[in-house]
Amino acid sequence: MSTINIPNELPVDLIGPDIAAYAVGNTGIPYVWSFEAGRPGPHVMISAIVHGNEPCGSVALDWLMSQDVRPLKGTLTLAFMNTQAASRFDPADPNASRWVDEDFNRVWSAEALASDRDSVELRRARQVQPLVASADYLLDLHSMQQPAPGLALAGWQERGVRLAQLVGVPDRIVIDRGHAAGMRMRDHGAFSADDGQAAALLLECGQHWETGAADLAKEASARFLTGLSVIGPELLDGLGALDPAPQTVWEVAEAVTITSERYTHTQPFTGGEIIAEKGTLLGHDGERPVVSPHDDCMLVMPSKRLWRGQTAVRLARRRD
Ligand SMILES: [Zn+2]
Repeated sequence: MSTINIPNELPVDLIGPDIAAYAVGNTGIPYVWSFEAGRPGPHVMISAIVHGNEPCGSVALDWLMSQDVRPLKGTLTLAFMNTQAASRFDPADPNASRWVDEDFNRVWSAEALASDRDSVELRRARQVQPLVASADYLLDLHSMQQPAPGLALAGWQERGVRLAQLVGVPDRIVIDRGHAAGMRMRDHGAFSADDGQAAALLLECGQHWETGAADLAKEASARFLTGLSVIGPELLDGLGALDPAPQTVWEVAEAVTITSERYTHTQPFTGGEIIAEKGTLLGHDGERPVVSPHDDCMLVMPSKRLWRGQTAVRLARRRD
């Protein structure tokens, strides 16, 4: 099982709401709520706390539940995912609640789900999988270790990019293939299949514990639901949302997977940096230098979890 104990030096200004009242659910699955319009339409899903130390999604779902949102068509599902991890959130050691046994967002391959392996996260993933697999559109709300501009991780199918453009925020869309360490929920099944229409978006709303992350999570949720015409436009009123900045699309050309016992970044990168020159030294994986593979290379979420097999950083090229 993976350890997660990295120290935190950032302020903890955002703490998730008490979600105990949502435990009962209405789907037979704890902490998962579905509402049907009684009119045909897509199954639209918003998920939060895939990582227990990322409260912004819980704030957004709590806000949607408090608004009594109901779909105008199809089905709307609101799901708090790794609630066991999130229930352990401690502002004094906020990274410790990222997961209980392992990363919930690396267990979503068909093989891992069907295996005889057991963990808190695998049990929860197997429990919610039928609903996730039945979603036509998924918005999965996350946040990042370090302060950096928000990102819409669109996967590698073009329809993920289109969904990010329909949501309209944040302004950086990233085409990516996930992590060598295991499949993410947003890539599960039909979401990443070469055919079909199911589309998913993993939104990185900012640093885990900055209040702006919750603002973006709420705005993106409202834009997702109104953009898909599942909820009327009034949901966006009152958020004080401004016209969003024009979006740019970036494609991850390389995920730097750590192969040694010691990885170091050459600078205290926090993510979103655009490295002008090809060949700039970015880090060392053991003895191996890691350099930017092309000009104007955006660093996507440089990690502090610098262990063998983990992703140290992803490198993205702007798509014209
Ligand atoms: Zn996350």
